[in-house]
Amino acid sequence: AAKNAGGGRVAWFDPAMDRLAARDARLGADLRQAVARGELSLVYQPIVELPDGGLAGVEALVRWQHPEHGQVSPALFIPLAERNGTIIELGRWILEQVTAQAARWDRALGAHAPRRISVNISPRELHEPGFVAGVAALLARTGTDPARITAEITETAVLGTGPGLDAVRELHELGLPVALDDFGTGQSSLSLLVDCPVQVLKVDKSFVDGVTAGTAQAVIVDSLIAITTGLGIQAVAEGVETEAQARRLHQAGYRYAQGFHFFRPMTGDQVTSLLSPVALGA
Ligand code: C2E
Ligand code: MG
Ligand code: MG
Ligand code: MG
Repeated sequence: AAKNAGGGRVAWFDPAMDRLAARDARLGADLRQAVARGELSLVYQPIVELPDGGLAGVEALVRWQHPEHGQVSPALFIPLAERNGTIIELGRWILEQVTAQAARWDRALGAHAPRRISVNISPRELHEPGFVAGVAALLARTGTDPARITAEITETAVLGTGPGLDAVRELHELGLPVALDDFGTGQSSLSLLVDCPVQVLKVDKSFVDGVTAGTAQAVIVDSLIAITTGLGIQAVAEGVETEAQARRLHQAGYRYAQGFHFFRPMTGDQVTSLLSPVALGA
């Protein structure tokens, strides 16, 4: 706790912040053990093709079942893992799980197995020396086609030039499609689409939310289709929750969408059931 020279609390000190910091420190320490204790798992959310909703791919999303707190949101613990460095080990584990799951889908589903699997990559991972070499080694060891694994990155990872952008270029050279995630939030700059090898643009939910209301968001959603089409980039609309949004996005020219309206994130086995030839009526 910060104290001033007189021993009293300084004006900017906020006890609530102190409690948050203490909670973060405890959760962060727990997170270090979470992999070894088997508390982490992956779920997969389908990315669908419009308008019919056929499966175009899946996005891997990590889950943490904390022994006391129950499900902890990745929106909370991923930033924590970034700050305390655990993300490096965590990211490695996530990629290993994804390659293992891909092999299981291949065995169970053959030609029906998901062809495209998106994995979220944190800025800190991209800045870690040897990260791309590690990815290359894992894919080679597991016999995973690099073209099957889309690297979802955020603009913060590649702002400016530097190791982040270099790593993305190396991933691309390795054969991984690159997706720019949450596009439109943060400090998105269109120059990123020029400087960074991007094959997929994920239009953030905050724009999709307003798409049926004739708002500024709708204008942006429409403009992004013109930009991505012109650049030969695939656009994915994120966070589609209603039929009306799906229809409007399709009319605007979107071919790919993701959201609770179609599917919530599910286990790897649930994806298998979803795609099994029996379920498909093949
Ligand atoms: P993201 O990569 O943008 O993932 C999409 C998030 O939106 C997921 O939340 C997903 O469950 C949620 N979502 C999908 N459709 C809808 C919808 O229709 N409505 C609403 N309200 N939400 C929807 P989740 O799984 O809680 O993940 C949150 C964020 O945490 C992710 O955002 C990503 O930035 C990060 N994250 C998740 N898994 C991983 C991971 O394995 N590695 C890393 N580095 N980050 C991850
Ligand atoms: Mg993502
Ligand atoms: Mg996203
Ligand atoms: Mg997001």
